[in-house]
Amino acid sequence: MDIKIYPDPVLLKNCVSVEKVDDNFISTVSIMVDTMRAAEGIGLAAPQVGILQRFFVCLDFDDENKEKTIVLINPEITKMEGRIESKEGCLSIPGFYEYVYRYEKIEIKAYDLTGKEVIYVPDGIQSVVFQHEFDHLDGILFPERMSQIKKDIFMKKINKEFK
Ligand SMILES: [Zn+2]
Repeated sequence: MDIKIYPDPVLLKNCVSVEKVDDNFISTVSIMVDTMRAAEGIGLAAPQVGILQRFFVCLDFDDENKEKTIVLINPEITKMEGRIESKEGCLSIPGFYEYVYRYEKIEIKAYDLTGKEVIYVPDGIQSVVFQHEFDHLDGILFPERMSQIKKDIFMKKINKEFK
């Protein structure tokens, strides 16, 4: 599985809902987790590997050993509050980091790999990662969450780097 790099147009598309969690889907998720770990990432959304469906994987930050991962299928952000600045990067824009604005706390509802509905109320880095990965499902990359001035400078830099 290859990670798509900016400006690959697949990164800017809207994803459709996952309709069925079957063995094939589960093995795709497992390869995505391996791909994320091999790239030393903390989250990876389906469009980043060219799959235009609404799901992502990320580390479970409650697990101190960072061995557990979370898979969120058809996630919906149902509550949001506060605002924080977080320094972020993205496996699809390798080597570039910048501060962006995020909600401090969110509530996110999704389905897990067993088809069960799950609700998370994360804060800190887990909240930030969920929001970053969630944005990918709407074709939104993290520069969109920067102040305009930062975004303009950042886009100039990455457009020079990635052609
Ligand atoms: Zn990303």
